[in-house]
Amino acid sequence: MDDNSRKTGSLEFCCGEKVFDPVLCKSKQFYELLIAKKGIVSRGFTKLKNDFDLDDITVSKVFLNLLSVSSETFIRSFQLKLLDDIVFTNKRLAKIGYVPHDTCTFCKEETETIYHLFYECPFTLLFWENFEKFWFVLSGKKEKFMLQDVYIGKLEKSCELLNYLMVLAKLHIWQSRKQDKIPECEVFLKQVDVKYRTEKYIAVKNNTQKKFQAKWLLYRWHLDLKNNSS
Ligand SMILES: [Zn+2]
Repeated sequence: MDDNSRKTGSLEFCCGEKVFDPVLCKSKQFYELLIAKKGIVSRGFTKLKNDFDLDDITVSKVFLNLLSVSSETFIRSFQLKLLDDIVFTNKRLAKIGYVPHDTCTFCKEETETIYHLFYECPFTLLFWENFEKFWFVLSGKKEKFMLQDVYIGKLEKSCELLNYLMVLAKLHIWQSRKQDKIPECEVFLKQVDVKYRTEKYIAVKNNTQKKFQAKWLLYRWHLDLKNNSS
């Protein structure tokens, strides 16, 4: 132990290759410590880059899109957990001994990884097929959503409602898993309708109908058509 350590006791710690002593350090060194991790991207950021072969700007855009995907903190933080790859699927839970096996809650066959649970599982794929049909009814666009679309959302600005519905859909898959149920498009559509009506109520209350109508335009047309034909 050197002289400085003796003076400060056990408060010093290592930060990278440097030893940081809060008693002896000056404000400049505190500042350097605070910004040491600035600019270091999260593990989820690097994973998205590698898994989907994206560049830094695109991945940054994916994270920035979180701010506009929903006004609800709960929904935003759920999507952030997915992007940051900190969702506890059975693969992770089995690793830490929290569950006895790592198999998928839905199919009970494959390992429950994040991509399997939210896209690759036959039961989830069936859910997304029905989601595609629902989106076709809303938008008139026949689209096949791939893992990347589902996982990070579409990057075009015009896809605000679609991206929101996709996050809601993933939340439905996650909640179904927690309840040990298979994700059902019918149940999901009821949840969408509740969201629509709740946001409509809030928009009227806050006088933000314009924003609400722009977001839900396709859904509103769909409801009008349904009401007119019944
Ligand atoms: Zn499965």
